[in-house]
Order: sequence, then C-alpha cells, then structure tokens
Amino acid sequence: MVSDNCIFCKIANGEIPSATLYEDEDFRVILDLGPASKGHALILPKKHAANLFELPDETASKAIVLAKKVASTLKEGLHADGVNLVQNNGEAAGQTVFHFHMHIIPRYQNDTVNVTWKPGELTETDKNEILGLF
Ligand code: 5GP
Ligand code: ZN
Repeated sequence: MVSDNCIFCKIANGEIPSATLYEDEDFRVILDLGPASKGHALILPKKHAANLFELPDETASKAIVLAKKVASTLKEGLHADGVNLVQNNGEAAGQTVFHFHMHIIPRYQNDTVNVTWKPGELTETDKNEILGLF
C-alpha cells in the first residue's frame, strides 16, 4: 500500500507537505518542485505502485480522467496554449521517482520545454515483429 522509503508515498499521504492542487481518496495532485513550465503538476496515487505496469486498472482509469480535469483548469487559468501529459516508466524512459506519477505540463507558444524526438524510420522487419505481438 505505502512503501517506507518512497518520497511520493509520503507526499501523497500528507506526511511531507506539498503544494497541493487537488486531493481525493485515491490521489493527490501537486506542483512539481522542478517545473518544466509554469503550472507543471504531478498526479500521485496514494497507494504505492512503482509504475504503470503495477498500477491497478481502476486507478489508471481514474488517473486519466483526473488528468483531463487538471489539464483543463491549468490551461484555462494560466492561459496556456497546449498541455503535454508525460508518464515515464523505468530508468531508460527517464523515470527518476519510482512511484507512478503523471506529469501535466502546460505549454506556451515558443517556450523552451523539450518533449520531442527525432523521427526514425519504421522498417518492415520491426513493423512485422510488432504487429505479431498483438
Ligand atoms: P520522473 O523523472 O520520475 O518522471 O519525474 C519526477 C519528477 O518529480 C521530476 O519532475 C521532479 O522535479 C519531481 N520531484 C522530485 N522530487 C520531488 C519532491 O520532493 N516534490 C515535488 N513536488 N516534486 C518532486
Ligand atoms: Zn510510493
């Protein structure tokens, strides 16, 4: 339920204070301490799950609905031009805190936030391998 050495468990459950935008029985939504942009928020489930794969389906469903609400409020209230939802799983994917969280990053025209990549090429071999997984 709660992991002893997990900072986001402590924040989500109110043991460590945080700038809380919203709270209910399942989640706490906080401001990121190192924001990519003005309004960068994090959705934290109160029950520990290291990543998306450990997150119960019901919590995952609620998280995206909550993300939609928080993103709308931030976008309107801060007059943002767009919003990125970012959710990292595993060190290779940039995850640094191993308690599931969803980033909500308001975007402003000509800001310097970087969540882009250089497009590669979809090869026939890769395509067939991946199609074969489903
Ligand atoms: P990740 O790289 O794991 O997807 O994102 C971790 C995020 O948590 C980072 O954006 C980082 O700034 C934020 N963060 C790390 N420690 C704390 C903290 O103690 N409080 C808050 N509010 N944000 C934190
Ligand atoms: Zn945790």
